[in-house]
Amino acid sequence: TRWVYGFGGGGADGDASMKTLLGGKGANLAEMSALGLPVPPGFTITTEACNHYYANGSQYPAELKAQVAEGLAKVEKVTGKSFGDAGNPLLVSVRSGARASMPGMMDTVLNLGLNDETVAGLAKLSDERFAFDSYRRFIQMYSNVVLGLDHHSFEEILDDHKDRLGASVDTALTAEDWRAVVADYKAAVQDELGRPFPQDPQEQLWGAVGAVFASWMNERAKFYRRMHDIPESWGTAVNIQSMVFGNMGDSSATGVAFTRNPSTGESRLYGEFLINAQGEDVVAGIRTPQSLTKAAREEMGDRNISMEEAMPQVFAQFKDVVGTLERHYRDMQDIEFTVEQGRLYMLQTRNGKRTAKAALKIAVDLAAEGVITREEAIVRIEPASLDQLLHPTIDPSATRDVVAAGLPASPGAATGKIVFDADEAERLGQAGEAVILVRDETSPEDIHGMHAARGIITARGGMTSHAAVVARGMGRPCVSGAGEIGIYPREQLFRARGREFRAGEVITIDGSKGEILSGSVKMVEPELTGDFATLMGWADAVRRLKVRANAETPLDARTARQFGAEGIGLCRTEHMFFDGDRIAAVREMILADDEAGRRTALAKILPMQRADFVELFSIMEGLPVTIRLLDPPLHEFLPHSEEDLEAVAKATGLDATKLMRRAKELHETNPMLGHRGCRLGVSYPEIYEMQVRAIFEAACDVVGKAPTPEIMHPLVAKGEEMAYLRALTDKVAKAVMEERGVTVDYTVGTMIELPRAALRAGDLAETAEFFSFGTNDLTQTTFGISRDDSGRFLNAYIAKGIFDKDPFVTLDQEGVGDLVRIAAERGRAQRPGMKMGICGEHGGDPASIAFCEEVGLDYVSCSPFRVPIARLAAAQAAL
Ligand code: ADP
Ligand code: MG
Ligand code: MG
Repeated sequence: TRWVYGFGGGGADGDASMKTLLGGKGANLAEMSALGLPVPPGFTITTEACNHYYANGSQYPAELKAQVAEGLAKVEKVTGKSFGDAGNPLLVSVRSGARASMPGMMDTVLNLGLNDETVAGLAKLSDERFAFDSYRRFIQMYSNVVLGLDHHSFEEILDDHKDRLGASVDTALTAEDWRAVVADYKAAVQDELGRPFPQDPQEQLWGAVGAVFASWMNERAKFYRRMHDIPESWGTAVNIQSMVFGNMGDSSATGVAFTRNPSTGESRLYGEFLINAQGEDVVAGIRTPQSLTKAAREEMGDRNISMEEAMPQVFAQFKDVVGTLERHYRDMQDIEFTVEQGRLYMLQTRNGKRTAKAALKIAVDLAAEGVITREEAIVRIEPASLDQLLHPTIDPSATRDVVAAGLPASPGAATGKIVFDADEAERLGQAGEAVILVRDETSPEDIHGMHAARGIITARGGMTSHAAVVARGMGRPCVSGAGEIGIYPREQLFRARGREFRAGEVITIDGSKGEILSGSVKMVEPELTGDFATLMGWADAVRRLKVRANAETPLDARTARQFGAEGIGLCRTEHMFFDGDRIAAVREMILADDEAGRRTALAKILPMQRADFVELFSIMEGLPVTIRLLDPPLHEFLPHSEEDLEAVAKATGLDATKLMRRAKELHETNPMLGHRGCRLGVSYPEIYEMQVRAIFEAACDVVGKAPTPEIMHPLVAKGEEMAYLRALTDKVAKAVMEERGVTVDYTVGTMIELPRAALRAGDLAETAEFFSFGTNDLTQTTFGISRDDSGRFLNAYIAKGIFDKDPFVTLDQEGVGDLVRIAAERGRAQRPGMKMGICGEHGGDPASIAFCEEVGLDYVSCSPFRVPIARLAAAQAAL
């Protein structure tokens, strides 16, 4: 088996299409080499080697040693240096790289191959200060990543030296100083481990390779994989690459760049760099990075020189390369580069992570530039990410009490209580509290806390710091590098501009402006225009599935239309029953002894229901409105307390003890399988008759566009049941239309939410004119799992791999989906062209929407805020 693929020196064994085998980083290093870009030579150990390693009790494949030696020999040939050679040492970086980028999850070791002898050789060839600066970096990184020692002890040693020397920045230290730091570092390793820092470059190399493989299984990596649905079976590749040095003086530098702004999408080179520095210095926030372009520097009011000004020739070349990369990959690139004594090297490129807003702008712009097609633009937007755009931002007219300012690292706004610790953030977040995580800086250990927080603030770090990158990925607003705030974790407070803010106090962050505000601030709903409207227009043009909303309140109905809903797919009438003083009339009806008593109560409810429907029909302006007749078990409406019971007694003049007895009679052991759904309409037809009457009277009353009600009967199981309900509906409809002398365009149909209904769909379709798949109940009844109680055991099923996903979130296509397919087929065989849709939670889930497209349903219906997501997902499903 081939476990090693080389790159650099004007060619490569692999290419960008081989991400599965080489990981993203390795595949793109190969691609860049093949494009003739300046990439330091190296080789990639495949993800298959990682999988082999884990499948065989942490043993490397037998051929690996020889293949690595061969790879290394090639690199030695191209660079003219030798690994472990004191005269002319080759140094390498050892970098992890999985198929999907996992920022900060895996650790990289730089300057590997240095020891007491090679450092001397390096010093002789170049510069002593540089050599020892590199050596101390290597000892610290290797000790941390491979030997498992804490960074902290090394930082303390360095700080002691800096204090002693009165130096404020690392660059002020001389060769002698670094030599002393190195000696102390080595002593610290000996102290902690009881053995010296490894001097043998081969031992160093294999130690690092092992550490990369091991990091695939560390807790941070596992958490990240769970969060992003990355399978463990992918494994990680290892990249071993000859070092280039950004820390060789003032003509050297290191930096990161995005070909477009990852926050706004603006088409302009964007990024940061540091002169005389190495790799991680930029992201770690050790020094404040400098701008790449003069324009960006001027805009930020930054006094530090930009790359464009500091090294104009290299910058011109860099701009060229960056343009080549974006055109080649046809997408915004996230790039790492290093300049070694005036020579540019490319160290990484990948499709850059971006906010939803930026993703939209970039996709729309690239389509306008002719780089990609409209269809490609549609496919590039993750439907779920639109959620970020549908959420509020701070009202421009609100008064802003600015506590401190930092960088606008991730847009959007959030209000919450101050928390200084990731675990605490997680704890409070799980308890349903809105919290803002406030940290000096974040590291991968904080991810769970960032996830639980509504927003993130850091005192240090730039736009590409860990906090910024992760927050953008999660869609959390973030202000980074708010240097004005001083955090005192022990006192549980931060100070800024002479004020104090304690843990638990409420603040608001404006991630779009980079400001921290005191208290909670008025927010405004998002603007659904511009790029959003453009892309949604393109999506609407290609999708076949219609998108409706589940809505019963006027507010929800208006939101739904604003988001582009093409009708209401589910109006749950019981929600209307709970409102205000209606519940008293509803209880009177339920507790009535006989039909006459029920009719008296229903007469009180009728005008209220009618008014609801008039409003709903007016808002929907002729769009279809599917109204589900009363569905929940009657017992849900029962008075819960003695007080409730007294109130009913008083309102109706009925005897309280008699009412109590009746309430007891109505008690059910298994209400979800009890007296509910259309069973209510069969046993107490006067309830459904009242509802149908309310609907039709409303349809006659409404002014403006004629409404198109679709009357839907829930929980039907048998053809005979449906026939009975159809006749009941038609009878009342006819009566009302005759009374009013108005014709209403209506249909009568059923939900499919019982396995029997799906199997006997042909019988139902004899009288039902449409089907709506109620996949919440259908999932519940198919699995026999109560969705209200599944939380207690479902996690165990997911952890044990029995369930892939929560079937209440993503449709179980094999089982529940099969029933849907069967019902659709049998229904259409009976009634060709029959209208069908889905109205469960799944109607807003992109994977489930793709399934609906496949089965050929006519529409999906979801909650109003998911309508844009569904429109986009439906378009993607159609492509
Ligand atoms: P991550 O995935 O966390 O970004 P990387 O492997 O990309 O980790 O490397 C971390 C940093 O080290 C980056 O800034 C990268 O540019 C730098 N780096 C990696 N390999 C080399 C190398 N061979 N020479 C110089 N710098 C390197
Ligand atoms: Mg990187
Ligand atoms: Mg149901």
